[in-house]
Amino acid sequence: MVSTESNFKTYQIPATVSAFLARTHQLFIDGQFIDASDGGTVAVIEPSTTEQVSTIASATVADLDKAVAAARREFDGGTWSQLTPLEREALIHRLADLIEENATDLAYLETIDVGKPLAEAEMDIQGTLDTYRYFAGWASKISGRSGEAAGLPGDYVTYTRKEPVGVVGVIVPWNFPLQTLAWKLGAALAAGCTTVVKPPEVTSLTALRFAELVKESGIPDGVVNILTGKGSTVGAALAAHQRIDKVTFTGSTNTGKSVGHAALENMTRMTLELGGKSPVLVFADSDLDKAVEEVAMGIFFNAGQICDAGSRLYVEDGIYDEFMGKLVEHTKTWVLGPGLEADSTIGPLVSENQLNSVMGMIQSGIDEGATLLVGGNRVDRTGYFVEPTIFGDCNNQMTIVQEEIFGPVLVAQRFSTDEQAVELANDNQYGLAATIYSQNLNRVHRLSKVLKAGSVYVNAQSSIDPAMPFGGFKNSGFGRDLGPEQLDSVTETKTVWITLS
Ligand code: NAD
Repeated sequence: MVSTESNFKTYQIPATVSAFLARTHQLFIDGQFIDASDGGTVAVIEPSTTEQVSTIASATVADLDKAVAAARREFDGGTWSQLTPLEREALIHRLADLIEENATDLAYLETIDVGKPLAEAEMDIQGTLDTYRYFAGWASKISGRSGEAAGLPGDYVTYTRKEPVGVVGVIVPWNFPLQTLAWKLGAALAAGCTTVVKPPEVTSLTALRFAELVKESGIPDGVVNILTGKGSTVGAALAAHQRIDKVTFTGSTNTGKSVGHAALENMTRMTLELGGKSPVLVFADSDLDKAVEEVAMGIFFNAGQICDAGSRLYVEDGIYDEFMGKLVEHTKTWVLGPGLEADSTIGPLVSENQLNSVMGMIQSGIDEGATLLVGGNRVDRTGYFVEPTIFGDCNNQMTIVQEEIFGPVLVAQRFSTDEQAVELANDNQYGLAATIYSQNLNRVHRLSKVLKAGSVYVNAQSSIDPAMPFGGFKNSGFGRDLGPEQLDSVTETKTVWITLS
């Protein structure tokens, strides 16, 4: 371990992590680490200190073409295409083993890059591992079905084949960079696809360490290509590329729409996991103390930079004052600080842009007349720190209630009936998740049915597991990641008819 001076305290990072940061990182194309064709680079800024900690390459469209050509070759008859499903499964497991062996370094890199507390980064790495292991097992289990014609006269043998969709373009956001990458890659590799990945420009470090592990795993060159760089150039060019077969995107709704338009031009298949503004309904019959802690966790975890953050709170009239009082007191116990400090429970926002955007939304809440109950300030020290913030007395006409803030900002209001709660919850462009706190089983089932959201969490926040699908209704996108449902999006279904007479 070596010491690194931060603006706060001295903290320790593993020597292997320091050495990794000290290098200038290259693109990973066809199994080789190479500079961008024009020599372009991007500075990596640590959000806790605002200092440059590393340098990465900025890919060009020419680099992208090279990566797509390698992925194409591997898919269209290359080594990868000739492996058996069990051989693919073994390679994905080998990759997972390497991630496990390097889990500590990966967690440190994620914390330094994103700013999140180390304990949260460790959970991300565990989620990453679980995802690869889950999908590894699917490689040998993806299969079509035999069937019988229902009305067509004649004698046939009919069956379906599930064939890998082809070269998959992968574009991921900065909030859970390595874990989101696993969501996309796990299924694609299990199905036999090849991939070209565009990590988020502000948090690419773990994807680059991952590239080294891909090389070490023995996965053939060209199957996984990783091109760091700008979304507006290499990301946009990937979505519009004529030689890819599918694009899987996680990010904001606006960018997702432009990715979707570009993909549609070529009939490229697409999965879009987009933004959210997820409602949390707290009923008087719920376990209030448990709900207080979990509601705070649902919005302050990862400094609120979570797509399915429970960011709109609706509390039943009779308990509103008591619940909000407890929630405000609990919020004051959250400790802001760099992710590498042991006692930090909430880190900085990822970038100056994100800081400015969140502070702008807080100001809009104040201007619109919401009551600031706690927080609301940028912290007076180096780093992109914003206090955990709660607004009360909100209404659904306010911008802070309708728009995704993607920061540690909760907006709360009252409701008096189940019907009103559902109406308020559904009155939003997004539909990623919704949460219900109640002990009333009848109500829970009734509301789970009518809430317009891809996931409904009951008496818990953000339960995510590789075996269960995740994705959105409405402007939160379409398609699902995770679970067997995701395999449909990385395969094409072919129907074979054999006429016997
Ligand atoms: P973003 O849309 O700005 O960027 C996402 C990715 O797209 C990045 O890799 C970026 O470089 C790339 N990109 C940017 N412009 C592009 C373009 N024109 N064409 C192609 N790619 C481009 O999103 P972000 O700020 O990184 O992430 C935050 C957003 O992601 C939030 O809206 C959040 O809700 C959403 N998100 C959704 C999910 C989900 O599963 N639904 C999960 C995490 C984050």
